[in-house]
Amino acid sequence: MTETVVVKLGGAAGNNPERFCADAARLIQSGRRLVIVHGGSDLTNQLSEQLGHPARFITSPSGHTSRRTDRRTLEIMQMACRGLLNQRVVELLQRNGVNAVGLSGLDGRVWEGERKTAVRAVEEGRTIVIRDDHTGAVATVNSGLLTTLLNAGYAPVLSPPAISTAHEPINIDADRAAAATAAALGAAELLLLTNVAGLLRRFPDESTLMSRVSRFELDAAAGLAEGRMKKKVLGAGEALAGGVRRVVIGDARRENPISAALAGEGTVFE
Ligand code: ADP
Repeated sequence: MTETVVVKLGGAAGNNPERFCADAARLIQSGRRLVIVHGGSDLTNQLSEQLGHPARFITSPSGHTSRRTDRRTLEIMQMACRGLLNQRVVELLQRNGVNAVGLSGLDGRVWEGERKTAVRAVEEGRTIVIRDDHTGAVATVNSGLLTTLLNAGYAPVLSPPAISTAHEPINIDADRAAAATAAALGAAELLLLTNVAGLLRRFPDESTLMSRVSRFELDAAAGLAEGRMKKKVLGAGEALAGGVRRVVIGDARRENPISAALAGEGTVFE
């Protein structure tokens, strides 16, 4: 059987869902088994502003930044990710002749994980504990549902949130959810497409693109990345540890972005 590829489209400005979907459609029509994942953090920020509930971020004691996700923020994130972006990708794939099925992690419990009951954050030099955050990480993937869809000729398009073991929606990082999905499906490759050429040794200088990172250099590579790029490098490491052969962080802004990443353009982790 053809190998499965999981491809994650970034949500940052400059990424182009039209080109992404046209390329995805060509690959699917030529027999590739693609599972598409997307996030939506920039659109969540915009919508939060428009709805009068501006985005807030918290920093953990170890220095990681994440979205403060109260119940209202969770709902706005669902509007942006599941409501707008997921349905846009499905629309564009349908227009290109692909029978896409949009799912959030709640649907069929595609992505399940534990909700964090206590989130530690540093505020004005003090560590505080937040108990009403709706966040977590994907621990299990319903690969049976995804395989059923793929075998029947449907193209799954996956979006946050995930579902907690207590059946509530939880905000999760889409790069790391894509990594968990690739590992669970035994995918040959994971492609993380974003609005830069790949992992840069000296961001934002695109001439410092790292073309290859071996699994023994992951810690050093993570040290070069800030914020959300760091999550991609962590996701790359998790996918390799889960048996995925190759991970590519590639450019979503270009023509044929998926084909280019499959051809090894960007930063290849193996
Ligand atoms: P997406 O929404 O596409 O998933 P993110 O905004 O989460 O993308 O991550 C990509 C961003 O990571 C880049 O636009 C850049 O601002 C930032 N970044 C931080 N460090 C690096 C680095 N060393 N190399 C490349 N990008 C980096």
